[in-house]
Order: sequence, then structure tokens, then C-alpha cells
Amino acid sequence: MTENCLFCRIVQGEIPSNKVYEDEAVYAFRDINPQAPTHILVIPKEHVSSIDEASNAHSVGNVMLKAGEIARSEGLSETGYRLVCNHGPDGGQTVFHLHIHILGGRSLHWPPG
Ligand code: 5GP
Ligand code: ZN
Repeated sequence: MTENCLFCRIVQGEIPSNKVYEDEAVYAFRDINPQAPTHILVIPKEHVSSIDEASNAHSVGNVMLKAGEIARSEGLSETGYRLVCNHGPDGGQTVFHLHIHILGGRSLHWPPG
């Protein structure tokens, strides 16, 4: 728990969220400003500010694996989906607690804008 971290506060239940999945290490919830019909954020409960700061391979791998499982359980396997992890200004990171976006439910552009 890092004070004043929005996503740590969501994990603690201090800020409400639309929860999709939770276990001892991972929390997933719907993005407040969805960019696709399905837009879910998957985060480690333990605070890590960015993929650029991450050092625990097990934790990062677990979050990625869970993101795939959640996408599957949301019914996105057949039509497809995208997992995104932004870092820094050019990457468009705005919340500094590591998160994987699950985007699906529409055709996604490639390359991204
Ligand atoms: P980033 O730009 O850092 O990769 O993604 C941050 C994401 O968090 C954005 O898609 C934004 O809509 C979402 N977000 C920001 N604040 C909140 C919030 O309070 N609740 C939820 N559910 N999502 C949020
Ligand atoms: Zn945090």
C-alpha cells in the first residue's frame, strides 16, 4: 500500500471500483473511461509504479497470465483482444501503479495511434 496511489486505494476499497476478479496477489476492475466495449485493468495488489520499475518476474508474469484468463472468461478469446502496458510520457502512462489493460469487443487498430 502506497499512500496517495489511486490503484492502491482501489485495492484497499477506499475508492469504489467495478471489480471483475480478485485473488491474493491480483485485482482486476473495469476502466472508468472505457476505450472499447470491454476495458479492464489488471493490477498486482503490491504497489509497483511501472513495468520499468518491476523486478519480480513471478508477479509480473502472474498478472499477465491472469489478464489472459480474465479476457477468456469475458468471452474475448474467439474475437480477440489486446493487452497493453503503458510506461512514461510517450507510452501514455497516467496512473503510476503497474496495470495491464485488457481491450476487446471491437476491432482494434494497429499500429496504435
Ligand atoms: P494509463 O494511461 O496509466 O495506462 O491508464 C490508466 C487508466 O486508468 C486509464 O484508462 C483511466 O481511464 C483509468 N482510471 C483512472 N482513474 C480511474 C479510477 O478512479 N477508476 C477506474 N476504474 N479507472 C481509472
Ligand atoms: Zn499503488
